[in-house]
Amino acid sequence: MSAVVIDRGPAPAAAATGEPLIQLEGVGKSFAVQRGSDARMLRAVDGVSLDLRRGEVLAIVGESGSGKTTLGRMMLGLMAPSAGQVAIGGRPPAALGKRALARLVQPIFQDPYSSLNARKTVGDIVGLPLRIHGLGSHAERRKKVAAMIERVGLPTALIHAFPSQLSGGQRQRVAIARALITQPEIVVCDEPTSALDVSVQAQILNLLKDLRDEFDLTYLFISHNLGVVEFLADRIGVMYLGRLVELGAAAEVLARPRHPYTRALLGSVLTPDPALGLPEAPLRGQFPDPLDPPPGCAFHPRCPVAFDRCAEIAPRTLHDAAGLIECHRHDAAVAAPPDAAR
Ligand code: SF4
Repeated sequence: MSAVVIDRGPAPAAAATGEPLIQLEGVGKSFAVQRGSDARMLRAVDGVSLDLRRGEVLAIVGESGSGKTTLGRMMLGLMAPSAGQVAIGGRPPAALGKRALARLVQPIFQDPYSSLNARKTVGDIVGLPLRIHGLGSHAERRKKVAAMIERVGLPTALIHAFPSQLSGGQRQRVAIARALITQPEIVVCDEPTSALDVSVQAQILNLLKDLRDEFDLTYLFISHNLGVVEFLADRIGVMYLGRLVELGAAAEVLARPRHPYTRALLGSVLTPDPALGLPEAPLRGQFPDPLDPPPGCAFHPRCPVAFDRCAEIAPRTLHDAAGLIECHRHDAAVAAPPDAAR
């Protein structure tokens, strides 16, 4: 199999391994929404502080409506925050400019069909970023495109095919090839396997894992499914109604989830790994209306261990050696009643 070697050129880059490549400080994003005659504010992301470190796979999980995709779009520089600061490679996305940003960060989205131009061939789609950035001669670009198509597991004969002639898995491989052809530092994967058959999901996850090692990539991996991120993640952040409610090393979060919402999410995942133990409490109740969030801790109507304070006062963000947690039951300053649900 041919190696794909592309000079990154003058794209901005941070330095040492483990250094934050993307930093969020108190980031929030609100949208004005019309409901009937009322103009309301939807707070999609609220006060999130987070680093994406070089070389890691940081998974952000939560149900639909938790704000994880909005967070990902801000980390791609595709959306400006309403509050707080985003820095990519140490600089605000607007200061980097679109081209430099695209050299540093690339997305892979959920639906590979809508994200590919149906009128272009696979070769044109994968080669477009090289043309946009003026990388290599025509012959060099053709060679790199063929090598990358082969590297993502597609027959090179498909270079002349159109997206409509490909399966869902093949289309996602094309989207991955396009994202990696200029060798970005960071890839934001937003539910990259959720539109695919289960058998194909595993192949794509394996491919993403191999490519991460081979190209020394940093991933932000967004998913509603803890079972999917278990395979890839170094750290896991859990979002609920716009808040980051738990953050920690993946092995710890999966083996010893601290937040009741994380425990409930895990309870809704069937895992073949016996080390993860039995689900503790399945997720109950409906996801709340983001335009009318519950007072206090937003999770309290669904929380099996909620107590009086939870319906009145939002929990503080607590940072400790394990990571981050937002729950009164983990706050030493709060006298919580015994946890009858455990
Ligand atoms: Fe449950 Fe209360 Fe903790 Fe919220 S603060 S997760 S309602 S125990």
